[in-house]
This record gives sequence, structure tokens and C-alpha cells, in this order.
Amino acid sequence: MHRIRLQFVTGLVLFILPVFFSKYIWSSPGFSLMAAGWFFFSGYLLYSYFIAPLERFSVLMPEVKEAPHFMEFIRETGTRLEELRNTARRAIKEKEEMASILFSMVEGVVTTDSGGRISFMNPAAERLFNLEHGSALGKFPREVWREFELVELFHQVFVTGKPQSKELNLDPPLRKYLSLELVPIRAAEYEETRGVLAVVRDLTRLRHLENMRTEFVANVSHELRTPLTSVKGFIETLLDGGLENMEATKRFLTIIYQETDRLNRLINDLLDLSRLESGETELKRARVFLAPLVEEVRQTLQNRLTEKNLSFSVELGPTAVWADEDRIREVLVNLLDNAVKYTPDGGSIKVSEVDHGDMQEFIICDTGFGIPRESIPRLFERFYRVDKARSREMGGTGLGLSIVKHIIDRHEGKVWVQSELGKGSCFHFMLPKFQQE
Ligand code: ADP
Repeated sequence: MHRIRLQFVTGLVLFILPVFFSKYIWSSPGFSLMAAGWFFFSGYLLYSYFIAPLERFSVLMPEVKEAPHFMEFIRETGTRLEELRNTARRAIKEKEEMASILFSMVEGVVTTDSGGRISFMNPAAERLFNLEHGSALGKFPREVWREFELVELFHQVFVTGKPQSKELNLDPPLRKYLSLELVPIRAAEYEETRGVLAVVRDLTRLRHLENMRTEFVANVSHELRTPLTSVKGFIETLLDGGLENMEATKRFLTIIYQETDRLNRLINDLLDLSRLESGETELKRARVFLAPLVEEVRQTLQNRLTEKNLSFSVELGPTAVWADEDRIREVLVNLLDNAVKYTPDGGSIKVSEVDHGDMQEFIICDTGFGIPRESIPRLFERFYRVDKARSREMGGTGLGLSIVKHIIDRHEGKVWVQSELGKGSCFHFMLPKFQQE
């Protein structure tokens, strides 16, 4: 830079010098004073317009400081600016990529700064903790969360600089099961902690599934043990001398027969359900009319309908659905069998339909015991029964409605129930219509 400055001053002097040797200027002192003033003024202007900005450049970019002359200085500055522009573009792109990764992550990411305040929270974390966008930024964890354990985790990692991982069960209103991994933010391994980075995963669904599986195994064991215990008890009684009494023997054998029959039904339902859940059975879809199927099922139930003096009416038109006939028969068997089981003597059962364009809705209504409102959301769960004793007494397995739900779901349909306690229930299911082409 010194050299360029020297070159500039020398150039200026050489440029103005002939004026000072002019005879006219020397001969008039007023003019010589003006020329000197003009010389310093134009020198100052040129310096502040051209050299001073270059000096600022040379401070910002030490690499171009040693340029041998003005043109080289300008060229190097240009090249350097180009490089800086490319670096800045790359940095902006990388930052944008990083931001989009963090924003689209399924896991929640939270960071705190060196003061312990929250400096970043991605949308997934905001969703997990039910926070409004940006509302946690700049706050301390204790101001954002009421859960002591969560706040303490951030504090521990910040103070000790040691990573921590924990699974937390958040109380209502969040009601979530979360896994948290917290690590200190440091520039290098032995440096001081600058903040905390937390990765949060939502394990609520997984935990729910695990609970369901455990519950299912417990339920199956219980359901199998009850009839087996009863069968074993009656056989023991018979072996202990009960065989001598013909009447009692007959009664016990009837019970044993009923219990083994129930076991058989339970195992068949379980196998059916597991096949449906695993998706290993393909649906054999074709054009299916509901009216003949309902008639078929009615015939199998006729004895019980007569026994209980139940009236049975069908209002079905000729609309066909796109379905697996055997599976839909299974749905009808379960729903109509329930209607018969849970309707007291003298009641009525009605099957009807409603047109919904591409879909057809079928409704099976009875004038039975009805279902309490609080039981309706759980009705299609495996082994859920409103009245356990009554269901057992009727020979139910508690799996019928979950089989129905699986079958209808696999047909891209929908099943739901409307019921009033003491008045009766209506089970609705919707299926896609058969399309002609
Ligand atoms: P189950 O073998 O016990 O009948 P389901 O899965 O078919 O099992 O039905 C689950 C429970 O739903 C039954 O135990 C019963 O309490 C209730 N339920 C089903 N259908 C009816 C109905 N039509 N009227 C009243 N309650 C019903």
C-alpha cells in the first residue's frame, strides 16, 4: 500500500509540475498562489476518493496489501471479492440446508446458549411440547416447562458438561412418553460448555403398542385359563367319584363340552385376527350383493330368533359392493349374532342401507340392551366387553367386533356404532360400491 501511495503522489507531482515552470504563472504572484492551492486541493480530493477507500480495502484484505502497483491492487481486490462472494454463497446455502434439515426432522431439537436460555427449537419440538412457534426462544427451560425432571436435565448437562439420556413420562395435559438425549455444546473436547443440545423423540405410540401387546398376552392367557380351569375342575370331580351319579355326570359333561367349544371358538377367532393383522390373507374382491348374504346368515340364526321371539326385517336394494364375500359374511355373522345375543326376548332386528355415491352404508339395528356412552370408543378393541359376565354367558370371545373392524378397514371402509342404553344399538359399516368398468 505504501508503494501505491508513493506512486500516486509522484504521479500527481509530475502531472502538476509543468504548471509551476510556466512563465506566466511565475510572473503573477496571485496566480502562483492559486495554482499551489489548486494543487493541494485536487491532491486532497484525489487522495480521499481513490487512495483512502483502497487503504480501507487493504486493511480488510491483508492478502492484497503487497500489490506492487495500482492496477495489480485493483485486480487482486476484484479476485478476492469474487472469492469472498462465492464463499458467502456457499455458507448461505449450507446454512439453508442445515435449517431445512432441522425443520423437517421428526425428532425435536432444542438448544440452549451459554447463558442457559433456549436459543433454538425446531417445529417438531414445538409440536411435541405443544408450544406456539417461537414462544420458547430466549427463555430459560424452567420458564417453558413445568416438569422438574426435564428442566433438571438441561441444568445437569450445562453444569457438569456430561451427556445425559432419559425417558420421561409427561403428565397431562401433554400426556406423552418421551426419550431425551442431551449433550453439551463445545468447540473442542476439553473446552468449556457453551450450551446444551437436546434431541427429543416421541415414544408415546411405541409405548402404547408395547402396553397393548403385554395386555393382549395377559388377556389371551386369562381367556384360555378360565375354560381350562373349569374343564379341569369338572374332570377332577368326575374322577373323584362323580361318575356314579348319572345325572351329575351328564351335567358336567355338557359344561365340559360347552367350555371346549368356547376354547375352540376363541382359538379360531385369535387365528383369524392374527391373519388379518399380519395382512397375509389377500382379499378376493368381487361383485357382492348383501341381501342374499344377510338371508344366508339369518337362516343359521333362525332357531335362536324363534326361541327368543325376535322379529327380523331386511330393507336392502340391488346395489353391489366391491368386497370379499367370505369376509363380509364374517362381518354379518358377528354383527347379527351380537344383535341376537344382546337383544332380550320379543325385540326386533333390522338391516337397512343408505346410498353415499361411491360408497354404500349398511346399518344393523336392534332393540337390545344398548351400550353405555363411555364404552363406545373402546368397543372395537380386542377383548373389550361391556358386561364380561353376560358376554361369557352368551359364549362370546370378545374378539368379534375387532375382527369386524379389521375386515372393514381392509376394504377401505368404515365401521361405527350408535347406541342408547336400554333402547338398542345400530352398527353402521360403509363399503366401496362395485364399479361397472
Ligand atoms: P363378544 O364375543 O363378547 O360378543 P364382541 O367383540 O362381538 O365380543 O363385542 C364386544 C362387546 O360389545 C360385547 O361383549 C358387548 O358388551 C358389546 N356389544 C356388541 N354388540 C352389541 C349389541 N348389539 N348390543 C349391545 N352390546 C353389544
